[in-house]
Amino acid sequence: NLDDYELDEGDEGLIDGSSFIGGERQAGPKPVGVLAVVGRPNVGKSTLVNRILGRRAAVVEDTPGVTRDRVSYDAEWAGTDFKLVDTGGWEADVEGIESAIASQAQVAVQLADAVVLVVDGQVGLTSTDERIVKMLRASGKPVTLAVNKVDDRESEYLTAEFWKMGLGEPYGISAMHGRGIGELLDAALESLRKAKRTSGFLTPSHLRRVALVGRPNVGKSSLLNQLAHEERSVVNDLAGTTRDPVDEVVTVDGEDWLFIDTAGIKRRLHKLSGAEYFSSLRTQAAIERSELALVLFDASQPISDQDLKVMSQAVDAGRAIVLVFNKWDLMDDFDRQRMERLWKTEFDRVTWAQRVNLSAKTGWHTNRLANAMRNALQSWDKRIPTGKLNAFLGKIQAAHPHPLRGGKQPRILFATQASTRPPRFVIFATGFLEHGYRRYIERCLREEFGFEGSPIQISVNIRE
Ligand code: GDP
Ligand code: GDP
Repeated sequence: NLDDYELDEGDEGLIDGSSFIGGERQAGPKPVGVLAVVGRPNVGKSTLVNRILGRRAAVVEDTPGVTRDRVSYDAEWAGTDFKLVDTGGWEADVEGIESAIASQAQVAVQLADAVVLVVDGQVGLTSTDERIVKMLRASGKPVTLAVNKVDDRESEYLTAEFWKMGLGEPYGISAMHGRGIGELLDAALESLRKAKRTSGFLTPSHLRRVALVGRPNVGKSSLLNQLAHEERSVVNDLAGTTRDPVDEVVTVDGEDWLFIDTAGIKRRLHKLSGAEYFSSLRTQAAIERSELALVLFDASQPISDQDLKVMSQAVDAGRAIVLVFNKWDLMDDFDRQRMERLWKTEFDRVTWAQRVNLSAKTGWHTNRLANAMRNALQSWDKRIPTGKLNAFLGKIQAAHPHPLRGGKQPRILFATQASTRPPRFVIFATGFLEHGYRRYIERCLREEFGFEGSPIQISVNIRE
């Protein structure tokens, strides 16, 4: 019963896009896969996503043109963890609807292992629904059909006409009232488990995967060209259409790297309604497939919210990071001072990241990238032996005990590094460790062990 189902506090924090650096995060098992919710506007996709995430009170956007920047959520159903992708964050105008739907299908192909197609039972089957099915078929991803707005048992007959879509059983649901969601999810997750993870990415597994990200015009294509000279080869050009992701092997400093979704770098969906939204989806898809994100900024321009948003996407995804300040050839003394001030204010979240000032145009300092990338990945992969970790934490705790809380003093009992990529530490303590204290621990860990270029996560487990 979905009404009994709520995400816990920790997960909510992540959904809202807050940082987990120095924060607490539940250690979950690996998600079984990625499920995308698609369908034409107004069928109830957002309502369904909110319902699945257990956020009954959450806002369903009624304002046209509002774009949401979070698209992929951690979800759980009946003990199974999965990723849920919401494609409902756009408002298609009538002309834009074709391309918007095409983009949705594209997102489903790129990101998802299985798809839930939502239709409106009260409106009935439309030609737009049929076109979506055609595109989804081409993707080869398994599709579970949800007939929404079947608000009560008496309306169940509404699902009948959707059998002719040829997608198997249409599941009558009411996203709004929570009806039939359990059966739908059972079926969708079953298809997810069965779906072979053949996203078509036949990537050479020995190469490190890099996502080159940043808002339009910061110089991503220019940097790719500068790095590659002529040394680039397309790795997978799925069906050969312009919408598919293309990965390229680029030799940087004598080493081969796999650059993810370079088609997304070279071709942008500028004229689409909701273009910004889909470009952010594409960025997120690239980040999710990557190990390292090269986050580009145009240093000659003011840093915008969009710049910082892209950076946060990479940090929140827990990727190794190198920050690249491009167009340094355009900078005068005044600009450089402005940049230094910005570095201290806007980038305080990522002071651990290495920063490379360069010019993609002239090639100046591009030879510094490879080392920064290797460094960041080394930190990302790093594991601290438990004995060493505990000896160190004992030392820093003795130097700076946690402040008293209500007459008690929370103490660290034991810690272990639960995983790498990025490094995640679990600390067992006798009480809640304040944010400031966890920051202190993070700072000390970084000073002692390095971790330059990698986020680290610290979760605290309370033992009475
Ligand atoms: P989206 O554009 O596909 O994301 O659709 P929304 O989730 O924004 O929903 C569109 C409209 O349908 C909103 O006014 C919702 O309140 C309404 N709606 C969503 N689910 C249901 C449902 O199960 N029953 C009914 N009657 N209305 C619903
Ligand atoms: P993308 O949209 O991020 O792929 O950006 P592009 O690579 O298309 O670059 C956008 C514009 O910035 C183009 O006109 C480039 O020539 C210019 N550009 C890129 N890198 C540099 C640089 O290092 N210096 C200067 N002066 N211009 C650059």
